[in-house]
Amino acid sequence: MKKHNFSAGPSILPKEVFDGSSNALLEYQETGLSIIEMSHRSKEVGLIIEEAKSLVIELLKLNENEYDVLFLQGGASLQFSMVAYNLLHTKAGYLNTGSWSEKAIKEAKLFGEVIELSSSKSNEYRNIPKDFNIPDDIDYLHMTSNNTIYGTQYHSVPKTDAPIVVDSSSDIFSRVFDYSFYDLIYAGAQKNIGPAGVTLVVVKKDILGKVSREIPSMLNYNVHIDKKSLFNTPPVFAIYATLLNLRWIKKQTIEFIDQTNHKKAKMLYDEIDNNSLFNGFADVQDRSIMNVTFDLVDNSLSSTFDTLIEKSKISGVKGHRSIGGYRASMYNALPIESVQTLINCMIQLKDKFK
Ligand SMILES: *Cc1c(COP(=O)(O)O)cnc(C)c1O
Repeated sequence: MKKHNFSAGPSILPKEVFDGSSNALLEYQETGLSIIEMSHRSKEVGLIIEEAKSLVIELLKLNENEYDVLFLQGGASLQFSMVAYNLLHTKAGYLNTGSWSEKAIKEAKLFGEVIELSSSKSNEYRNIPKDFNIPDDIDYLHMTSNNTIYGTQYHSVPKTDAPIVVDSSSDIFSRVFDYSFYDLIYAGAQKNIGPAGVTLVVVKKDILGKVSREIPSMLNYNVHIDKKSLFNTPPVFAIYATLLNLRWIKKQTIEFIDQTNHKKAKMLYDEIDNNSLFNGFADVQDRSIMNVTFDLVDNSLSSTFDTLIEKSKISGVKGHRSIGGYRASMYNALPIESVQTLINCMIQLKDKFK
C-alpha cells in the first residue's frame, strides 16, 4: 500500500502521472521505443515539449506573445545564478524570507550590487515582512513566493515598476493567482510539477538582453529561447511526466485545486490551533497553504507521536533539519484523506495525554 506522502520534495504526484510515465518508459505510444531512448529531435518529443509549454502558459493565464517557457536543468538552485547572470546590470533588490532567498542572494552578489530590502531573519523567518521601500533604480526585485522550510507564503505581490523575479518552486500551480505580476518565474519541478531533473522557467522576453556581460550559452535564457529548450539534450522523461501532471491539473482546474488546497490547509491549521499539544511555527497571517510547519509543545511526546504517525503509514512529516519540529507538505496530489489521517494522529495523541 502506498504511504500518505507529505514530503517537501521530491513530492507526491498524481497516480495518472506514475501510470502514464511507467507506460511510456516501456514503450512510448506505438513507436516501438521507450521514451528514454527516443531522439529529443523526434516529432514525438517536439510535440511533448510544445504541449507542455502551452499548458504552462494556459494554466498560469499568461499571454503567450509576452512570455516564453523553458525546460532547463540544474534545479531552482542554478536559477539563483542564472537570473543574476542575465538580469543584474548594476543592482538588484532581494526580499529575504528564508534560506532559499539567502542562497539566491549569495549567488547574485557575484554579479553586482545586491540590496536586501527586507528580512525576517531576526524573527526566525516566521513571517513575511511588509514594510519596506523598493528603490526605483533596481534592475529587478527577487522574491521567494513560498518558503518551503518555514511554511510562510506571500499572499500578494509587492508593488514596484521594476521587473519581478520569483522563485515559485513550492507553490506554482497550487492556487488562483495573477502570475502576470511577475516577469520571470522559476521552479524546480520536484515539488508541485513533476520529477526532479527539470526546471521550469517562464520569462517575459522584453526583460532580456539588457546586461552588457558575455553570458555562456548554457546559462543564457535567449539561447534556450531561440533553440526552443533544445539547445542540448533536455530531460525528456522528466518533461513528459511534467506534461502528464499539467494535463491532470488542467482536468482538475486550477480553481478546484485552489479550493482543495485551501480546504486541506484549513483542516490542518484548525487542528494545530485547537489542539493544546501543538504550536504552529509561522505567523498566522503569512501561513503557507502548501507547507504547514508545527511543533509539539512538550517534546517528550515526540516518540509517541512519531509511532502514531508511522503506524498510520504517514511519510515525510519531519521538519527541515534547520528548524526541527514537523512539516506537512500538502502539494496538489495529496488527497484530503491523507490530511485527515495526520489530524487523527494529532487527536489520538491528545486523547492519550489530556
Ligand atoms: C527546493 C527549493 C529550491 C531548490 O530546488 P532545487 O531544484 O533542488 O535546486 C529552491 N527554492 C525553493 C523555494 C525550494 O523549495
